[in-house]
Amino acid sequence: MKLENYLLEEFNIDKELLKITKKAEKDIESIFKNIDEVYEYNQLKVLKAMQENKLSDIHFASTTGYGYNDLGRDVLEKIYADIFHAESALVRPQIISGTHALTVALFGNLKYGDELISPVGTPYDTLLGVIGVNETKGSLIENGVKYKQVELLEDGSFDYENIKKSITEKTKMVTIQRSKGYSTRPSFLLKDIKNLIDFIKSIKSDVICMVDNCYGEFVDIIEPTDVGADLVVGSLIKNPGGGLAPVGGYIVGKEEYVENAAFRLTAPGLGKEVGPTLGITPSLIQGLFLAPQVVASSLKGAVFAARLLELLGFNTIPKYNEERSDIVQAILMKNEQNIIAFCKGIQLGAPVDSFVSPTPWDMPGYDCKVIMAAGAFIQGASIELSADAPIKPPYAVYMQGGLTWAHAKNGIIIAVNDMIKNGSIKL
Ligand SMILES: *Cc1c(COP(=O)(O)O)cnc(C)c1O
Repeated sequence: MKLENYLLEEFNIDKELLKITKKAEKDIESIFKNIDEVYEYNQLKVLKAMQENKLSDIHFASTTGYGYNDLGRDVLEKIYADIFHAESALVRPQIISGTHALTVALFGNLKYGDELISPVGTPYDTLLGVIGVNETKGSLIENGVKYKQVELLEDGSFDYENIKKSITEKTKMVTIQRSKGYSTRPSFLLKDIKNLIDFIKSIKSDVICMVDNCYGEFVDIIEPTDVGADLVVGSLIKNPGGGLAPVGGYIVGKEEYVENAAFRLTAPGLGKEVGPTLGITPSLIQGLFLAPQVVASSLKGAVFAARLLELLGFNTIPKYNEERSDIVQAILMKNEQNIIAFCKGIQLGAPVDSFVSPTPWDMPGYDCKVIMAAGAFIQGASIELSADAPIKPPYAVYMQGGLTWAHAKNGIIIAVNDMIKNGSIKL
């Protein structure tokens, strides 16, 4: 067929590999049906929030300077709050990244003497600096916040006994990371997060339960706020920006806690009232509208990659047919050489910078060399097809994103094809 010839002739895809991709596609058909159902549900949820808030042309106007009376910014925040069934939302281009959003939420709500607990083991690498586990100037610990961490049990489940022991009257906040991040534990399903939050609240009802929702938005038909989270935080250059948001982060949840975060982001007393949108509101809103579809494309890419690489003899987390809570697919690559080969291949299949070759480097915030393949329209946007890996055992590469299913699929095929060509994979 024409498509096959095009791949063979224009992209030099190995004929044998094409056969295996066909098998992988067949194996995953029923999973795609579920993904499409969630996508459609979330599309309607986003649509309804836009309609109920009477989104209109006027909201696409830009503000500058202080950004007083920015109608578009205010309606976007109301739409986010509705989608998350939350009291309030802070959605801003002045939030630079997921790490920044989490920082604002933490510093806004924690004071000298308060305790913060991570009941789910080590948080995401960049948070180690924010908290001060890795000694950093300006960290929470330097500011007098006490930090405790309860490791997960051997089987990846919560250590309820030690979580209970770690909670004291000083415990102000817990931070729960939904996605595995750069670790090989499973990502938590929302029903697991519900159990954890219920347990923590049963011990101390006023603990602020914050969920780091990076990579989790729109993977399910509910969000962490629907299972009791007081604050939910994420990045707009991941799922909810739909690939169009050029920058930004969000914090949604209880009004008081979101306001505390807003006072930290801008200034005490000013909070949400200021913050110009500088013309990017249309991208944030349209990106949100597209996000359910983009997340579905990314999930399909993750499932396809898992199945294809399983058929080629690699271990994957999660397995292609396991229930998912985020868009991240980890593939255990066995060695450094394979990691580099896979990332080079993903870059080779990108729309932007396909002609450059990524190499491992000392990225700020990480404790070892990291390689990143990201031929993205928006710098660092990992809702676009991308792969990154810390160069250390167990040599897991973390792949995520895909603005369209056709690109996610074929980007992965190009990457694997490149590994075959350079001898990393033998068919
Ligand atoms: C990406 C990510 C972060 C940090 O986000 P940045 O935008 O890279 O700063 C935090 N937590 C998790 C789970 C993430 O995936």
